[in-house]
Amino acid sequence: MKINERQLELVNGRIAALLAADNFYGKKLKEAGVSRVENAEDFEKLPFSEKSDLRDAYPLGLMTVPEEEVVRIHSSSGTTGLPVIIPYTKKDVEDWAIMFKRCYEYAGITNKDRIHITPGYGLWTAGIGFQFGCELLGAMAIPMGPGNTDKQLQMMQDMGSTVLCSTSSYALLLAEEIAKRGIKDKIKLKKGVIGSERWGEKMRERIKNELGIELYDIYGLTEIYGPGIGINCKYDTGMHYWDDYLYLEIVDPVTLKPVEDGEMGEIVITTLVKEGAPLIRYRTHDLSRIIPGECPCGSKHPRLDVIMGRTDDMMKIKGVNVFPSQIEEILKTFPELSSEYQIRISHLDGKDTMRIYVETNGSVDFAQLSKDVAASVKSKIGFTPLVKVVEVGVLPRSEKKSKRVIDERYE
Ligand code: ZN
Repeated sequence: MKINERQLELVNGRIAALLAADNFYGKKLKEAGVSRVENAEDFEKLPFSEKSDLRDAYPLGLMTVPEEEVVRIHSSSGTTGLPVIIPYTKKDVEDWAIMFKRCYEYAGITNKDRIHITPGYGLWTAGIGFQFGCELLGAMAIPMGPGNTDKQLQMMQDMGSTVLCSTSSYALLLAEEIAKRGIKDKIKLKKGVIGSERWGEKMRERIKNELGIELYDIYGLTEIYGPGIGINCKYDTGMHYWDDYLYLEIVDPVTLKPVEDGEMGEIVITTLVKEGAPLIRYRTHDLSRIIPGECPCGSKHPRLDVIMGRTDDMMKIKGVNVFPSQIEEILKTFPELSSEYQIRISHLDGKDTMRIYVETNGSVDFAQLSKDVAASVKSKIGFTPLVKVVEVGVLPRSEKKSKRVIDERYE
């Protein structure tokens, strides 16, 4: 999806602001001698920005407007060293609420809904984003914040909450508690708006079935407003994202060249109208793809597939970039396989090889199944793995994705 005329014009506005502010990206632009972009080719030459750039700007080095225009800051988690501080202007806060309201509307939520908000409020962007979008929509916010499951369930019953906003793990915990306490008939939930951490299809199905609700995945990150920059519609064909506020590219995480629509790569985001801390070509390290074509809902907003993982998960086998999620997708197409698998990568005789261990029950032809899986990987990804089929129950059980990929090259 190439950048269009209107988006280019907006980028030029942000370039001018960044040059004037002379912050880290303004300096990058100056070094590159860029003051305007005329076309997609120019745009693709713009330098990337990284989380480390944002961290180096701590505390307020990202500020791109005079301080009197900043009305709020948010901060992203500082799991590795300094946090990132993002300043917002009044317009940024309003734009974010408009985008969030649109998310609720795409999920079919109206001003008659009662929205139960469990993400945290505070420096972290989540809770307040759900709140402002809800108020702009005119729905009733029930600003719970996280924790205290007893109180959550009591309020959910007393207030007749119809929409649950939460992380997938908290939604699952609530669903299990509701089942355990036998209070499902007192719960009025119809929809769940769930943060876009990577979550398996199985977990999704469990939450959906236990609570009997429709689920919507919401996308966003603190560096780019926060949650609310995209959501799936009722056709569930990927997350529509707001291309009037953001320009998204998918790039090959190694060559950093944009890939074709439909191909998987790293999501890179440019904010088109953000004032407090505009970002150009920000590398999210989230992996996904743009879904080509149009959604049956008729929306012209393009679609992003579910987040398939992080670029850090990437493996290179025989010169081909591979992500564990791609293997998982292929395994899912074989109904005779269990949901467990293990991927082992090793370096033998000067070559990288991948062994995939999968499970099935005793009634199928192991040798044939092994051949079929290998052929499917070859045709869809481009190299042939060694596939070992074992009996159900042989592979170790683990909730953690990372345990399923063992890279013996570095052991
Ligand atoms: Zn749609």
